[in-house]
Amino acid sequence: MNNNMLNKYLKAAILTVFVLAVLAGCSSSSQSTAAQQEETPRPILIEGPMPIEIEKLLEKLDNMEKETSGTFEFYKGTIDDYPVILAKTGKGMENTAAATAVAIERYNPIAIINQGTSGGHDPELHVFDIVLGKRTTNIGSLKTGHRKDGEGIAPKEWKPMDLMASEGSAGEDPDAESIRYYEGDQDLLAAANAVKDQYTKGEVVEGTIGSADVWNNEIDRIQWFHEKYGTSVEEMESAAAAQIAKAYEVPFLAIRILSNNKTNGGEYNPNTAAANQGYVLEVVKQYISTLQTED
Ligand code: SAH
Repeated sequence: MNNNMLNKYLKAAILTVFVLAVLAGCSSSSQSTAAQQEETPRPILIEGPMPIEIEKLLEKLDNMEKETSGTFEFYKGTIDDYPVILAKTGKGMENTAAATAVAIERYNPIAIINQGTSGGHDPELHVFDIVLGKRTTNIGSLKTGHRKDGEGIAPKEWKPMDLMASEGSAGEDPDAESIRYYEGDQDLLAAANAVKDQYTKGEVVEGTIGSADVWNNEIDRIQWFHEKYGTSVEEMESAAAAQIAKAYEVPFLAIRILSNNKTNGGEYNPNTAAANQGYVLEVVKQYISTLQTED
């Protein structure tokens, strides 16, 4: 064998070893990603706006680690050995929408529960009753009637404005004059209904949750929403989270306890926040058990 041939053999041998090494590397890395995915299921995201609306759940989180993004706080941990992210979003629609988007991008949740306190629109509901959001809707997205200088304002003439109806002008588009409802996920609703008898401080009912950065204390206005939108309660977050969950096709449910009800004299009681978290914990455990039997 002359030098030239030896060189060629050597090059071919080195190339073969290199190709085999790369192939082995690829397959072992794809195997380990698949194994990791199997080992680490997608977490359940539970959101609450205020400290009193997450503190009780935080105590129940095992192996807890805190992460932040802006003002949003994410507590990573486990419940019944299943990964859960508890998010303190802050109050209101903007905080909630942003925190939900950040959490979806960061943690890829399998489902989202937005929970906390609310004010009653339905006189049949009492402080400590819980509403499961069969539907969630934005009650701050409105278009006023046309009125000239000096003609005053007439809130009962205002029309719902669906910002998701089209990419065109919502102000000009008559098709946008409808109420957008976000449906609660059926599996999450089933889990919530399955454990509702364990909640003893009030009733658990399915209903419509209305959200806006507004605290309504005018009974006539509350009744207007109750009749026109079918709202059971109002609060400031769920519809924002529902809209973002829908944008990413993540199953969503809002679970809201009445902390006050202006329509029947129900005074604000902050202890409702902890009671709701106790119930939400049971819902999450039930949901986890259904995920595990599906495997
Ligand atoms: N600054 C006021 C309101 C802030 S609390 C205050 O301290 O009294 C607002 C929080 O309570 C929001 O997270 C909202 O979701 C919830 N909430 C409870 N009852 C409500 C009601 N009747 N109307 C609007 N939000 C309500």
